[in-house]
This record gives sequence, C-alpha cells and structure tokens, in this order.
Amino acid sequence: MGKLRSLVSFFLPQFCPVCGKRSMKDGALCEDCFRKYSREQKETCAVCGKRAGDCLCGTAHLSRTFISGKKFVAVNFYRGYDKSSDRVTERMIGKFKKKYDRALTDFFAREISGRLLPLMSEAGEVPGEWTLTYPPRSPGNLAKYGFDQSEAAVRSISRYTGIPWKKTLFRVESGEQKGLGRADRAENAGSLRVLRRADTEGKKIILFDDVITTGATVAAATDELIRRGAEAVFPVCIARTQTKKKERQKR
Ligand SMILES: [Zn+2]
Ligand SMILES: [Zn+2]
Repeated sequence: MGKLRSLVSFFLPQFCPVCGKRSMKDGALCEDCFRKYSREQKETCAVCGKRAGDCLCGTAHLSRTFISGKKFVAVNFYRGYDKSSDRVTERMIGKFKKKYDRALTDFFAREISGRLLPLMSEAGEVPGEWTLTYPPRSPGNLAKYGFDQSEAAVRSISRYTGIPWKKTLFRVESGEQKGLGRADRAENAGSLRVLRRADTEGKKIILFDDVITTGATVAAATDELIRRGAEAVFPVCIARTQTKKKERQKR
C-alpha cells in the first residue's frame, strides 16, 4: 500500500502548495517558493538577533527540558498571514492546517527531523527511547477540517526519526463550550489531559505543535505531561511568532 502510493506520486506531477506551479522533484515546493522559503529561514529576531531556531525570546515558560543546550526546535519565524506579503512560510502553514497535503506535511517533518536528530545524537539521546506526541486539534476545528494536522505531522516525523509516536493528550471541553457558536467553539479549545498515565509515566516526550505563538498551549501540555509522570518534555514546532521590539519593554 505505502509502496504503491509512493510509486503513484513518483509518476504524477506534484504542484507547489503555495503558487500551484510544478514542484521540484524531491520536495513540496516549486523552485521559486523554495528560494523564498530558504531566504525566510535566514531571518533574525529583532530583539536578540538570532535565527528562529536559536531565539529564546518570550519562551521563558515553554519548557524545563534542554537537549544539547537547546530549549526547543523551531524551523522558522511566523509573522501572521498577510495576503499582500511575498512570504511563503505563512501560506505553507495555512495550507498545512486546512487540507491534508502529504508532500507538504513530509516537507515540514523533514525540516524538523533534520534539526532534532543532530541535537539528540549530540546529547547521546536515543530516538527510540522517546515518544512523539502532540496537543490534538480542538473539536471545533477537527469537525471543520476533518483531520488533525499535528497527528499527520507527528506520524511523518516518526517515520523520519524512528521516534515512536502516540496520542497521549486529549481535550476536555469546558462547561461553557455548549453555549458557544461554531467559531467561538474552535477558539475555546478546552483543557489538555493525559488519559492513560501509563503512556507518560517515566517517559521522555517530544511535543509537536505546529505554531508556537504565546507558548500557552505547549506550556499547558508540558505541565500536564509532567504532572502525569513524564520525565522530560521537549517541544518542536514548524514556526514561532517573533517577539516585537516594543513587547520587550513590557517585560
Ligand atoms: Zn511555488
Ligand atoms: Zn529573539
């Protein structure tokens, strides 16, 4: 089945999820968009001058676990979606969330795996001893889009890294949920719970979230996993929002 599918996708032309042009042979993006994407990866934080993968601005509460001196893995900065912008990162993430796209999901999974594996090996961490998991999509958004983009990404990262994955977290809807409209329900994500302690007790966990904005979701998930006995929690994300200079004065 898997072999057949990869054979089919080998012969069928793939199209760039950003602009619709023919994709490059070995990736989701077309050549132009890949060039833009690579340029965006070199952008630096306005506060600390570091790239997305090294910047720790605004992430004080994110995690207590470091791997090889790093607090988490982020591939890019996320600047919010803007129609007039020439950037591709936000458009890629928009597509990634809306409709399952295997090539795009695998692209992001390779990006994350390519950063995660060297860190783990440097720190002497064995991928097979960790578990990959994710905060699941809110029930509202799951109903709206019909799939969980984080689960898709986690399956793919697992294939590239050899880290086994497991759904450990569930959302408990809050009481007010019933009275809310559809859009509000999607926003009101409820709180995260571990259902089976056996899945987290004594486990070292890689936690995937597609975009880290305030870090609140990742922090809440980390707290719950640790409360349920997890030994370590290390977050990975595709992109993180950039701390603006004026926000720094508030802290
Ligand atoms: Zn393109
Ligand atoms: Zn920074």
